[in-house]
Amino acid sequence: MRAAVLRRFGAPLEVGELPDPTPGPGEALVRVRAVGICGTDLKITSGAFSTTPLPIVPGHEVAGELASPVEGMAPGQRVACYVYDPCGTCLWCRLGQDTLCPASRRIGFDRDGGLAEYVVVPARNLLPFGEGLPFELAGVAMDAVTAPWRALVRRAAVRAGETVVVGGAGGLGLSGVQIARSLGARVAAIDPVASHRDLAVEVGAELAVAPDDVDRVRAWAGEGADVGFEASGSREGFLAVLATLRPGGRLVCCGYRPGLEYGLDSARLVLGEITLPGSRNGSREDARAALRAVEEGKVRPRVMERLPLAEVNRALELLRAGDVRGRVVVCP
Ligand SMILES: [Zn+2]
Ligand SMILES: [Zn+2]
Repeated sequence: MRAAVLRRFGAPLEVGELPDPTPGPGEALVRVRAVGICGTDLKITSGAFSTTPLPIVPGHEVAGELASPVEGMAPGQRVACYVYDPCGTCLWCRLGQDTLCPASRRIGFDRDGGLAEYVVVPARNLLPFGEGLPFELAGVAMDAVTAPWRALVRRAAVRAGETVVVGGAGGLGLSGVQIARSLGARVAAIDPVASHRDLAVEVGAELAVAPDDVDRVRAWAGEGADVGFEASGSREGFLAVLATLRPGGRLVCCGYRPGLEYGLDSARLVLGEITLPGSRNGSREDARAALRAVEEGKVRPRVMERLPLAEVNRALELLRAGDVRGRVVVCP
């Protein structure tokens, strides 16, 4: 099969032939139809994670067609692939915190992912969806919708009528705007790039400002915002969102960069009673709910461009240059 392989950190992916993978017990073969490319792929390919094995086929926002027999599903079934593979028995699995399971081997992070014609995934990670949903949206849902879904629904528990400030209007942030809206919240966004701000307004933010203009968001929120959703993974983004929060507000963080420190004023945290949950992708149930939200049209991930596998390095370049509005999708 054709596949894009990372052989050395910092080097371009090599597109070439690999043997077709064979599913083991409890696994399924998926013919890949779409893979979302996200900021995490830049971290993986640059070697930001010490756990990444080489060589590896990256790609974790995967959707395609089932290509091997699996109980309860016919070959050809359209499926999205949940990223994590929690053991089901450890402390975190028992608590429903699937993404914290230390035994989990993630698709495209710890085992081969979707930037290939075929991928092998745990059969229980297959999330079926119907004809009406394009593959590219189902793939993107596995991270760019699942992550903000968990952050806003489970971790920050956003309620109708609350104000939510989204930091970073990229793939995660734009989904975050729509999820917050679907929960009945009013939404503002912060992003340094004008075209990103325009998109945030297009998908439902009442206003979108640059990080040096947060006073306008504070004024919009009255006493300050109830909830911040940090998706930029930058210090400016974090501090800008924090600056808009009311005392007693919650700031849920989805963006990150290994080694990046935010520098939070301890008095602001304590005297302002800020709740500060981190949020990591989502459980299998979160992914299922996120996929359903996309299928029902509550969230519509933005896809800027579709590229063939041969142009996967161009997709990564576009993202690195910050030229991406929403998501770039590779279709092997
Ligand atoms: Zn991703
Ligand atoms: Zn576990």
